[in-house]
Amino acid sequence: MAVPKRKTSKTRRDKRRTHDNAPVVTVAVCPQCKKPVVPHCACKSCGYYKGSKVMTTREEVKAAKAAQ
Ligand SMILES: [Zn+2]
Repeated sequence: MAVPKRKTSKTRRDKRRTHDNAPVVTVAVCPQCKKPVVPHCACKSCGYYKGSKVMTTREEVKAAKAAQ
């Protein structure tokens, strides 16, 4: 059976376990386009927040540039 040549140090072991207790990411659903969004933030895919358009999305900027 293969055996590790060296003992795993406390630091290396603890570094490996850093992400074991990572917080669960909260995700909300955009009521406008039904895509997953960060809570309390404008939707990146449609630019809506609380039912009104608040920002221009990257796709809209690209489309505007292409139309010129
Ligand atoms: Zn949206």
